[in-house]
Amino acid sequence: MPTVPKWVADAMESVFSGKSRKVLVTDIVYLNPFIKKITFKGDISNVRFKVGWAIFIRVDDTNFRNYTPSYWNSEAGVFEVIFHLHGNGPGSHYINSLKLNDVVSVGLPRGYDFYKKEHEYHFFFGDETTIGFFESLKTTIEENSQNYIGILELDTNTMNYEIKTNFVLDIVAASTDKAQNAIVLLKNLPEQVWELWRTGVFYLIGNGKSIQNFRKALKEKGVSGRNIITQPYWVEGKIGL
Ligand SMILES: Cc1cc2nc3c(=O)[nH]c(=O)nc-3n(C[C@H](O)[C@H](O)[C@H](O)COP(=O)(O)OP(=O)(O)OC[C@H]3O[C@@H](n4cnc5c(N)ncnc54)[C@H](O)[C@@H]3O)c2cc1C
Repeated sequence: MPTVPKWVADAMESVFSGKSRKVLVTDIVYLNPFIKKITFKGDISNVRFKVGWAIFIRVDDTNFRNYTPSYWNSEAGVFEVIFHLHGNGPGSHYINSLKLNDVVSVGLPRGYDFYKKEHEYHFFFGDETTIGFFESLKTTIEENSQNYIGILELDTNTMNYEIKTNFVLDIVAASTDKAQNAIVLLKNLPEQVWELWRTGVFYLIGNGKSIQNFRKALKEKGVSGRNIITQPYWVEGKIGL
């Protein structure tokens, strides 16, 4: 989402007022010093939500940023989002500054049908920004008695600390030539595991370049493009995808 003048941002918020809400910060948990999970409460009755759908948050006078709720309950008026505090932009600074009882302006969720119910085997590849997506995907997969494995590629700051997530994935350090450590792990997957997953569904979310490289490696291993779902969340040097 591009930076716009304040009057345009104000106008957007009022034009979309039917599609946005003011919500309250009611709980904050740090999963790691660089990963902040926030619970929001407000009137979201009758609002539709599917796994992987994103909201946008007004982060200052002129900017909106996209984020993916890890949990959504319209009836209870509660949702949660897991944020990466990468420290490089207005979104990250705003989220870092949020405290209990702050009021936040949020655009209602929208997106594709990411979850592929027909598959028994699901594979995740992502980074700090995708933890929320994977938490909600994992819940849905387990509700349907299906299986998941996957890899999280983390930057050096995040790698220095444990992360408390509700899923278990392999963790690798982000490499300068994106996804290379993850690709090594993919190539070394035990044969019996690969036999089960090779026709499964692969969700590649997060950094654009990592997605590109990991997708190429999957195709080289014979995975059909139809079974690979991609959604870039950020790209080095680009503002607010
Ligand atoms: C559909 C969608 C859903 C998303 N869901 C989530 C989510 O649930 N949680 C979450 O944390 N993020 C999520 N993101 C990513 C988030 O919107 C971007 O990281 C966004 O750029 C953050 O805005 P910013 O103002 O902090 O940085 P920007 O002003 O957009 O960017 C400033 C600089 O920071 C760099 N940058 C941006 N993100 C990162 C990063 N993660 N690590 C290192 N450098 C970065 C940019 O490349 C740029 O150079 C999502 C993005 C999309 C498109």
